Amino acid sequence: MTRKEPTMGTKAIWAGEKDYLAFGATQVPVVHSVSFGYDDMDEWYDVAIGKKKGHIYGRNTNPTVQAFEDKVKALESAEAATSFSTGMAAISNTLGTFLTPGDRIVSIKDTYGGTNKIFTEFLPRQHIEVVLCDTGDHAAIEAEVAKGCKILYLETPTNPTVKITDIARMAKAGKQAGAIVVVDNTFATPINQNPLALGVDLVLHSATKFLGGHADALGGVLCGSHELVEQVYHYREINGATLDPMAAYLLLRGMKTLSLRIERQNANAMQVARYLQSVDLVEDVFYPGLPTHPHHDIAKEQMSGFGGMLSFSVKGGVETVRDLLPKLRFANRAANLGAVETIVGPSRTTSHVECTPEERAAMGIPEGLIRYSAGIEDIDDLLADLEQAFAAVAKEAVG
Ligand SMILES: *Cc1c(COP(=O)(O)O)cnc(C)c1O
Repeated sequence: MTRKEPTMGTKAIWAGEKDYLAFGATQVPVVHSVSFGYDDMDEWYDVAIGKKKGHIYGRNTNPTVQAFEDKVKALESAEAATSFSTGMAAISNTLGTFLTPGDRIVSIKDTYGGTNKIFTEFLPRQHIEVVLCDTGDHAAIEAEVAKGCKILYLETPTNPTVKITDIARMAKAGKQAGAIVVVDNTFATPINQNPLALGVDLVLHSATKFLGGHADALGGVLCGSHELVEQVYHYREINGATLDPMAAYLLLRGMKTLSLRIERQNANAMQVARYLQSVDLVEDVFYPGLPTHPHHDIAKEQMSGFGGMLSFSVKGGVETVRDLLPKLRFANRAANLGAVETIVGPSRTTSHVECTPEERAAMGIPEGLIRYSAGIEDIDDLLADLEQAFAAVAKEAVG
């Protein structure tokens, strides 16, 4: 029998660890040492210039951190991966590596709030031209990319209205223009979507979210070709946004259950989305798995699952949000997402708190929008919880 490449659930557990197990340990150790010593001066030199494998100083590389990188690399079927202290560090270091004054970058209007701030506040200050197209307007993106750009930066599904961009189509447009195509794959995770396989150059994650999955460690990671990832690694090792070994360990441990968690979160999100469509107080439900989603067909084509993230707007706007959310028993009201617990939050307070109401409106984010990150709880409890909360709000409105 020929040996077959293991699939996701198995890779999530086994990939990337073997080279880092010491003393017969079955789990990757947390190596806190800041430096790595050498008695042989020639060996030290060879490691320092990259001729020989090894570690020199914790800002550059660390065994626990590398095990984490190797696991994500395997899940994204990438040639190389490098990691960062946060997801935003992955994004800012990637942009910082390739963009210089006079360059042009094309992206979409509803990227993650922090990313949007880089586009609107920091890049223009460095004389980098930023063009933000309407998310989902593929022809507009293609037209802007064709005018020439250094980077085409995408995120799909987007935060918080889970809009979908056709990755393969955009990768083709980027390639034709000689652009580096980058996708933020945080919402989908490698279990549901592999942008590299769809032709993009670089894929990045806020590991803080689904990859870690337990809301107890910050981190970011970037995957792609050796040629590109090496350049970003170099920028990061010098600029210093290094992932901490303890965080790397927590992310690595969290990732062992990634496939299981995502399977459950996909299923829970789908059922919650369907339920919300039947609620009187709900105005709109946004979930790529719903046939009513404007780009459901694209999502079906490029994703193997629709993810754990959805959002919905309620009648009565901010007032209803204020009444409804505190009534939920099985949900954290918090800014993060992608954890084992269900998490809810108003977008005006979470993903897009940096934006003005006008900016949010321009991005199509209603003030009464609630982001819902489905956890891995039993679905009957999640549905019952929503039901009692909506019933209590309706009762107050009547009484
Ligand atoms: C959270 C998030 C980020 C930023 O990640 P941090 O780890 O918080 O810095 C980037 N992109 C998306 C889609 C996110 O959800």
